[in-house]
Amino acid sequence: MPPDGVPLDFRIETTSGKARAGRLITPHAEVETPVFMPVGTLGSVKAIPQDTLEELGAQIILGNTYHLYLRPGVETVRRMGGLHGFMSWPRAILTDSGGFQVFSLNELRKVTEEGVTFRSHLDGSSHFFTPESAMEAQIGLGADIIMAFDECTEFPVDRERMRASMELTARWAARSKAYFEDHKHEVPWAGNAHVGTDAFVRPAGQSSTFADDPNRNAGKAEVGSSRKEAAELRSAGRTNASVPTWAEQTQALFGIVQGGMDRDLRRESALRTIEIGFSGYAIGGLSVGEPRELTREIVESTLEHLPADKPRYLMGVGTPEEIVEYANLGVDMMDCVLPTRAARHGLLFTSEGKVSIKQARYAQDQGPLDPNCGCRVCRRYSRAYLRHLYASNEVLAQVLNTIHNLSFYLDTMRRVRHSIRLGEECGFLSSVWSRPKP
Ligand SMILES: [Zn+2]
Repeated sequence: MPPDGVPLDFRIETTSGKARAGRLITPHAEVETPVFMPVGTLGSVKAIPQDTLEELGAQIILGNTYHLYLRPGVETVRRMGGLHGFMSWPRAILTDSGGFQVFSLNELRKVTEEGVTFRSHLDGSSHFFTPESAMEAQIGLGADIIMAFDECTEFPVDRERMRASMELTARWAARSKAYFEDHKHEVPWAGNAHVGTDAFVRPAGQSSTFADDPNRNAGKAEVGSSRKEAAELRSAGRTNASVPTWAEQTQALFGIVQGGMDRDLRRESALRTIEIGFSGYAIGGLSVGEPRELTREIVESTLEHLPADKPRYLMGVGTPEEIVEYANLGVDMMDCVLPTRAARHGLLFTSEGKVSIKQARYAQDQGPLDPNCGCRVCRRYSRAYLRHLYASNEVLAQVLNTIHNLSFYLDTMRRVRHSIRLGEECGFLSSVWSRPKP
């Protein structure tokens, strides 16, 4: 539990080479690092119910501010107790600033010093994001970790444009921080968050969706419960892990390092972002179409400039072998739509390589999708059945494929953490994934 007023406690417990294994303690949950964060764009990790995500061991998920701002709107989410209450997710959440979607989904955007004007990809309506409004939106959404507003450039881009963009991002980072410091106590759960997987936050007066669940431990508390009540629970001896401990807590704000594929600009961006001061640092603007060796080189050189005692978040990567590789380089947090998006297209990641389940060769294959996977899909269904569901366009195909892929990613990170704790190089996927496709 972080001390009162400290939004985020990050503890590195073991290192192995450049890799670090530790613990990120957010207002809603403890997160073991390095961690992979499933993407829940619109308050939903597509095709997966929240209880299944919990069962798979997801400790933190990501929400997209741009999408939630457009639909259902920040005010609706805020009134429902923030994203945690709205989507009934008791563990940690990170929201992005909306910058990436503003720049990637809007060809007609207009950027000025003040902010970005863009058109909704849904109905063409015009909107204006500034560092201040992106912070206001993210405070309303109420994730545990929120991101500074940055400009994302196209790739490839010339150095002059990249420098101007990096400098704009630095000025926007300072404005993001200033707004956040003035408004951080406006978060929907301010003063009411607590750590623990049984923690749950909902608006006062709203009935508990968990209250009738016999599998849930006692000791849950509603928003509106006071620190006094928590103290009474503790003094009554009910101090086990399921009893929440209250604290005056706020969100944690991360800065984003930009600078394209230029090592010097990346270094300068890192130094300027660190000077402003954030609870953690992200590397943005990668995985935008550049060759993978270049991504690795930029990640490796940028990491050298980031403070060792703060969490490091590499945005938008990657394949299973890449998340292992970046964890080995000392990255603590990663997110990617790949496991969920690929699953919906019938592309499955297994310990034996990629499987395109639509192929006719699986039509009568009685074996499990991945003989080395213990997920509920691999334990129960055959490749033939999964192939049939996909070929028939059954909704269940998307559900089962996503469960397996997320399970595979989360298990991969679990193994990475285990390897780091044993002091081993975690190279267990490289031999599988460098083999030619079956
Ligand atoms: Zn599986």
